[in-house]
Amino acid sequence: ALMTGEQYVESMRKLKMQVYMFGKKIDNPVDDPILRPSLNSVKMTYDLAQLPEYQDLMTVVSPYTGQRVNRFTHIHQSTQDLMNKVKMQRLLGQKTAACFQRCVGMDAFNAVFSTTYDIDKKYGTSYHQNFMNFLKRVQENDLTVDGAMTDPKGDRGLAPHAQADPDLFLHVVEQRPDGIVVRGAKAHQTGFINSHEVIVMPTMSMGEEDKEYAVSFSCPTDAEGIFMIVGRQSCDTRKLEGAAMDTGNPTFGGMEALVIFDNVFIPNEQIYLNGEFEYAGVLVERFAGYHRQSYGGCKVGVGDVLIGAAAVAADYNGCPKASHVKDKLIEMQHLNETLFACGIACSALGTKTESGNYLIDLLLANVCKQNVTRFPYEIVRLAEDIAGGLMVTAPSEKDLRDPKLGPYVDKYLRGVASVSTENRLKILRLIENLSLGTAAVGYRTESMHGAGSPQAQRIMISRQGNLRMKKALAKEIAHIEE
Ligand code: SF4
Ligand code: FE
Repeated sequence: ALMTGEQYVESMRKLKMQVYMFGKKIDNPVDDPILRPSLNSVKMTYDLAQLPEYQDLMTVVSPYTGQRVNRFTHIHQSTQDLMNKVKMQRLLGQKTAACFQRCVGMDAFNAVFSTTYDIDKKYGTSYHQNFMNFLKRVQENDLTVDGAMTDPKGDRGLAPHAQADPDLFLHVVEQRPDGIVVRGAKAHQTGFINSHEVIVMPTMSMGEEDKEYAVSFSCPTDAEGIFMIVGRQSCDTRKLEGAAMDTGNPTFGGMEALVIFDNVFIPNEQIYLNGEFEYAGVLVERFAGYHRQSYGGCKVGVGDVLIGAAAVAADYNGCPKASHVKDKLIEMQHLNETLFACGIACSALGTKTESGNYLIDLLLANVCKQNVTRFPYEIVRLAEDIAGGLMVTAPSEKDLRDPKLGPYVDKYLRGVASVSTENRLKILRLIENLSLGTAAVGYRTESMHGAGSPQAQRIMISRQGNLRMKKALAKEIAHIEE
């Protein structure tokens, strides 16, 4: 059954995750002031699913359980499903202005679904059945699942088996009759701490010598041997200062962690790939494709908030009618909708896989993500332009509240007379948060490197772009005969 947001939060309390931050073990991550906003973002994926007006977007009847499930646990059955996924992500981005983390699992489900089907067909393995049992449990219990792909990778010039330290890519260190033991780490893990379980996947295509690295499985996030070290975000400790206004987004955020798998035992039923190395690349390509599509939704929703914030700042500054301000806001919307158009386009041109689910158009999904490596930066640049320098020089909330200093802050930092200084500073802090504060992790650098760095998309564009066909077109038009 669908969980309410509150039930989700309570379910997270029951996990015994090993979480470290600032050199200390965090006993209660759920209520930790630095981590809580990231939990609130995931909670929103549950809260919205409860609202009648969002039911069609947020939930869908699963063909496997016959029950209504959260779309974040769904296997896409049509191009309409693919488009609804992107629309749902835009909605969540609008409601949180942060990374809501639950998409990685959804993208992993859909990539593992079709890949395990293909592997079983070739090798007679039972990975697909293993996965389906897991998926049904996820759908029935409305779980949040992290998708863990990125290994630390060590020396980028060397294959996994050739690294000085064999653990720089996660690998199987022991094959047992009842399962496997794995060791390694996954870096930049979005939302790990707010997930019930994790699906681990290999990080790139692999050759025969990397066989032990070609492994995919799922396990609970509090499985024996797993621990995580939370990554810092710019301005993260502002959340500890007791001045919510200075965070810019007091309620929502994202989180990332370095997750260490220190000899974790995985039972056979939870394994989806184990040594069939030629499928590592297939799994990566499909997962990356889905996640590149995802950015055409989530980043657009966050962009909507940033564009709105810039427009509000212009109002409060008293210059909403200046033609260059209006034009900059148009430019921001043009860029943002172009990203959305790519997310929708790669969905609309999706195709059915042999296993029965739908895969996005890979060329357009990679074009989508390539644009995401650029446009949010330009949108941020324009937002900073419109906001003015006060977004980075304004005194703290504590100064505004101070009996002696407050009246001066209020008097001298006012824009248009009808708007309180407090409101003006709030909107500027939100722009700061998205441009260079905690949310810039998701909106900027993750736009660059998340779902694969720009060069990874360029390789896919070169592979999928069919330059040969284009050359033939030109030759035909020019009447060239060779
Ligand atoms: Fe979802 Fe976007 Fe966060 Fe990825 S970056 S998990 S697609 S919200
Ligand atoms: Fe991401």
